Amino acid sequence: MQNPDSPPMLLLRNAKVFAPESVGLQNLLIGGGRILAMSASTLEPPSGMAIDSINLDGARLLPGFVDGHVHVTGGGGEGGFATRISPLPLSRYTHGGVTSVIGLLGTDDCARSTRELVANLLALREQGMGAWGYSGGYHLPPTTLTGSIRGDIAFVDPLIGVGELAISDHRSSQPTLEELLRIASEAHVGGLMSGKAGVIHLHLGDGPRGLDLVRRALAESELPARVFNPTHVNRRRALFEEAIELAAKGCHVDITAFPVEEGEDAWSAADALQRYLDSGVAAHRVSVSSDAGGCLPCFDAEGQLSHMDVGTPGALLTTIQELLGRDLPLERILPAFTSNVANLLRLPRKGSIAVGNDADLLVLDEEARLTDVLLGGYWHLREGKTMRRGAFEPLPSAPPFQSSSD
Ligand code: ZN
Repeated sequence: MQNPDSPPMLLLRNAKVFAPESVGLQNLLIGGGRILAMSASTLEPPSGMAIDSINLDGARLLPGFVDGHVHVTGGGGEGGFATRISPLPLSRYTHGGVTSVIGLLGTDDCARSTRELVANLLALREQGMGAWGYSGGYHLPPTTLTGSIRGDIAFVDPLIGVGELAISDHRSSQPTLEELLRIASEAHVGGLMSGKAGVIHLHLGDGPRGLDLVRRALAESELPARVFNPTHVNRRRALFEEAIELAAKGCHVDITAFPVEEGEDAWSAADALQRYLDSGVAAHRVSVSSDAGGCLPCFDAEGQLSHMDVGTPGALLTTIQELLGRDLPLERILPAFTSNVANLLRLPRKGSIAVGNDADLLVLDEEARLTDVLLGGYWHLREGKTMRRGAFEPLPSAPPFQSSSD
């Protein structure tokens, strides 16, 4: 007998698996929220067990996305308290294929706290998501739960590093090299103590100093390059060139999937990832994140602020669809959204399809639309229809898009 509270047993047949590497047609046995077996030959489920057998008919099966930069508390607050954003509901993540998030505080690490951040991470975990986060925020001294970055990483389960600490930005604390090194060492040592990643996730602003502080930190300290993880590196084209050079020295760099206007001095996430991969620098040292829940200012034709929008987890899938439309192979682009993030951040059982890993899986149809989402072994989206939603969300109703069967 199966415990009614545990995820169902599933047999997924004829899935074209991108693990993220392409491993061809596979059958997967799923139970207890994990991948129990995967084989190119027929899998026999244990006898006497109720099992849902599904033929995917060669559709593409991928690991759920690991979004490395998400304002899980809601971000914003830079245009007055009325511009503070509420937390996104669960289905905004699942409908975008995001099954794990790294939560963080941004500019508003004053009205918002690490306590609130951890509460939101735990709320996402209760609803089946993978959820970790960073201690601190834009500013120094950093906001923490235990009084130190090192203590937060060592003792607070979901906290795995510090960030997004702002540099080269008018909104930053203007940290000096010594201050940056001190806080990076706190993250590194906290990570060593707890077996966590211990990274410093750095928000890069538009400032001309770019990544100079990080280059000096690498040159003048013993800290490993992997500790420094700059993000928003595609916001200026010259900054992106600096980021590629830094990746060649061992840093993992993160591209943000924000909207880029025609003629803007920035690269879209699709352009940036393609350029990075073409550069020949280690393909495992790049990732793409959404900045979901963060504030996106929108400007009219005259350059006036017309309204503000909110970053969405769906930007990751849109970026992948754009790159597939340019005929880039899925296995080439997928690591930046899955395994690269999980490996850098040492997230167990996430970011790849392998026996023993969590059953966080996505199905793409022929037009690269997301038709199915399995989160911890439960269907949240099945053949384009919502099966589960988060707390306070309306019950399943309209599908996120019209599928041909409707
Ligand atoms: Zn930022």
